[in-house]
Amino acid sequence: MKNIILLGPPGAGKGTQARSLSDKYGFVQLSTGDMLREAKKDKSKLGLKVSNIMAKGELVTDEIVIDLIKKKIINTTNNKGFIFDGFPRTLAQADALGNLLNKVNQVLDYVIEMYVDDDKLVQRITGRFSCSSCGELYHKITKIPKKTGICDVCGSIDKFKFRQDDNEDSLKTRLLAYYRDTSPLIGYYYALKKLKKVNGLGSINEIQDAIRNIII
Ligand code: ADP
Ligand code: ZN
Repeated sequence: MKNIILLGPPGAGKGTQARSLSDKYGFVQLSTGDMLREAKKDKSKLGLKVSNIMAKGELVTDEIVIDLIKKKIINTTNNKGFIFDGFPRTLAQADALGNLLNKVNQVLDYVIEMYVDDDKLVQRITGRFSCSSCGELYHKITKIPKKTGICDVCGSIDKFKFRQDDNEDSLKTRLLAYYRDTSPLIGYYYALKKLKKVNGLGSINEIQDAIRNIII
């Protein structure tokens, strides 16, 4: 069993890789971004609370995301390990995760930093969309569906959606939040001897091979 964090700026490809590694190797993907978007979609109290913050690209409070992750870690049994994607994003979240894993007698194995130039991130993020039925991720230049309007994976028709926060304004705020609050985690995990680096610029398969060589 391996527990892995994918660390990197918005658009680095964390979600794409986390999803595919989970499908192939049985990891449980824990994405706080997905969980929060789910809460928004369900119009739950939590969803309403975080909706504006997310649209602007700011971070929601540590308390909220730590609580979400805690529930998942405690309620998941028998898995091949977790892949954390979009969590932790602050030093307080990183500390909390260490404690949570400790409590269930698990350890963190690797933190994989996916690095990509900022100008590439803008291009990636402003072109991405996903299938609202199965969650498959697409991009209008680099990963278009084989048949227009039809999801390659589940066959849904005209079910594609864009994320509300995938616009240039919100992206600026998200990048700032990344450099201010999240990038210190690179040093934190380096000190804990958990840090590995992967160039996030290659093709989806190349990046996946690089990650697989580290974790499997
Ligand atoms: P991306 O990595 O593309 O910015 P995510 O899907 O990980 O997107 O997150 C979307 C938004 O959800 C963030 O901009 C933030 O508002 C909120 N969010 C997700 N995870 C966290 C977290 N761990 N801590 C604080 N806010 C978070
Ligand atoms: Zn689909």
